[in-house]
Amino acid sequence: IYKNIMEALYKIIFLFLLVVYTAIRMYYTKDYFKSKKTKARNKFMEKALTYLVAVGMILFPLIWIFSDFFVAFDINMPLVLRVVGVVISTFSLVFFAYVHKTLGKNWSPILEIREGHNLITSGPYKWIRHPMYTQVWLWAIAQFLIIANWIAGLSGIFTWTILYFLRIPQEEKMMEQQFGQKYVMYKKITGRILPRLKKIRK
Ligand code: SAH
Repeated sequence: IYKNIMEALYKIIFLFLLVVYTAIRMYYTKDYFKSKKTKARNKFMEKALTYLVAVGMILFPLIWIFSDFFVAFDINMPLVLRVVGVVISTFSLVFFAYVHKTLGKNWSPILEIREGHNLITSGPYKWIRHPMYTQVWLWAIAQFLIIANWIAGLSGIFTWTILYFLRIPQEEKMMEQQFGQKYVMYKKITGRILPRLKKIRK
């Protein structure tokens, strides 16, 4: 019975985290849908990949929360790792809000250039080119630790890995086309999802 109460608690916690995640996203993207976009890259594939990630990070977790469908795939995860998952995801939500705020009106769910697009190099972007993707990695790892299920837990990491590796080269190419030398220079002084360890000599 103790175990069942704990499982229910993890489900409530993860649902709460998902709601906060969605609230932050909605708050910072209110203006996205009515805004003009001047360019899009691989639009069809980008959309498909975004839906795929939504299945892995939202739909499967929701099925895990509201049904016993995946119960045969539960992992016996130590309590401490699940707590670590909650800590990571809480931290990642704070970071998420900070990144979203910094990226402002340049955010897109797919690869697009928006009207009046600026190259952001401040805040987390001072050290990292893709802080929002850093955040998703943290979130995906936390999803696995909290949900502790081979299907609904790993589906986040699995779908995100696919989108991440297909998108990154395309995104950097698009940014380079848009911002030219400025982005080439920016690439030299920043890391992809983690800050660069060594300073480069000018
Ligand atoms: N890859 C970034 C942004 C994710 S949102 C991150 O992880 O933080 C995806 C959109 O952000 C892309 O369509 C691209 O147009 C835009 N973008 C990516 N890097 C940017 C930057 N440094 N400044 C402004 N817009 C950027």
